[in-house]
Order: sequence, then structure tokens, then C-alpha cells
Amino acid sequence: MERKRFIWISGRAISNMPLDSSFGGKDTMDDVAVPPPVSGTYPVPESDIAARVQALESILLEKGLLSSDAIDKVVETYEKDIGPMLGAKVVARTWTNPAFRARLLENAVAACKELGIGGAQGEHLVAIENTDKVHNVIVCTLCSCYPWTVLGLPPNWYKYPQYRSRIVIEPRKMLKEDFGLDIPDGKEIRVWDSSSELRYFVIPERPLGTENLTEEELASIVTREAMIGVAEVRKP
Ligand code: FE
Repeated sequence: MERKRFIWISGRAISNMPLDSSFGGKDTMDDVAVPPPVSGTYPVPESDIAARVQALESILLEKGLLSSDAIDKVVETYEKDIGPMLGAKVVARTWTNPAFRARLLENAVAACKELGIGGAQGEHLVAIENTDKVHNVIVCTLCSCYPWTVLGLPPNWYKYPQYRSRIVIEPRKMLKEDFGLDIPDGKEIRVWDSSSELRYFVIPERPLGTENLTEEELASIVTREAMIGVAEVRKP
């Protein structure tokens, strides 16, 4: 896998770029060693990761670089205050307020601030809109960069190599096989590669038949998966 290739093109819709011979001249990853589906497990056992985190935490605490209160505070904030409900609020506002939508697409950081949403890791947030012609999906091919400020912490599968590699190579097939999302052939799929400097989130299409819902009701039907681009929002 040519990791560098992804770094260079990070920050642009990578799916529009022609495939090169990254996979030994073969067209898709199906022809080489097939990775387990996203529902598989991460290659490193969770107990190993937990041990590593604990070791790092102990060293940082021991050296006085971090306090345990600070760690607890961050965990608590992400458990209670920051999560996909914030992104859902933003999406619902774009569905009911075209002027807000325009501002969000122009400058997501400033528009989110209007709703009191922002903070660490949200300095370079970019909103991309699904339309009847284009479906968007986000990934971090390098690691796990994710729009924390609007979506909270990423789902585990978002960090799996299986997702990070395959969604770029064959997004239509992967969306259908792993997420049950069938994007019609006539619709273009764009895959956006996030980085620590630039984090994308998807504004899904508003489902038909939701004209009578309030903004709050609309927010309640917007899912994290829809804002990653691996699902559509459904009418309740
Ligand atoms: Fe990353």
C-alpha cells in the first residue's frame, strides 16, 4: 500500500483520481489479499491497546505532564457533551435555513460557532453536501482523523484498516456490502480524506415527507453514520 500517495492528496476528494498500480497492477483489493469486512476486529487486540494507553498515561502522570483530573474531564466531556447530536443539530439547521446552509458550506467553523459548536480539533472543519447527483463519504486513510467537534469520537470501524483502504478503492461496492447502502449507478460517489488539519463531515439529503417536522424533530433522525456518509437519513 502506498501510504505516501494518500498523504499527498489528503484534503481533496480522492475518489476522482485515477487508480495507479498501487496493488501490484491489479485493479482492486479483491484481487490481492482480501481484508476482513468492517465488522471484523482491529488487527491489534483491544487488551494490547488498553495496556499501551495505560502505560502512556502512567508515564505522563509520573512526569507531571498531565493530571488525572484532566483525563477524566476529557473523557466525561466526550461521553456527555460532545457527540453526533451536535452534528445533527447543524444538519437540521441546514435543512430549514438555506442561508445557514450557504454559510456552513462556505465556512463550517464560523457557521458551527453560531450554534455554539467548536473547540479543540474543530479549527479546520469542512461540511460537504450530498445532492441528488453526488454522494459523499469521509475517511482518514492515514489513521483516524475525524470531525470530533460535531460527531464526537469515531466508531471503531472508522479506524479499521479494512475501512480506510477499501472505501477509497471501491466505495460503491463497500457501501453496499458492508453498510447496506445502495447508491444508484448514475450517482457519483466522492470520498474525502481527512487529516489532522482538515476534517470533513457530510450534510445528508433531507428525506422526503419530512416537511412537517420541526428542526428539533429533524435533528433527532440524523445519525452519525449519515454524517460519515455510510448511511442515508430515513423518514421516521
Ligand atoms: Fe487520521
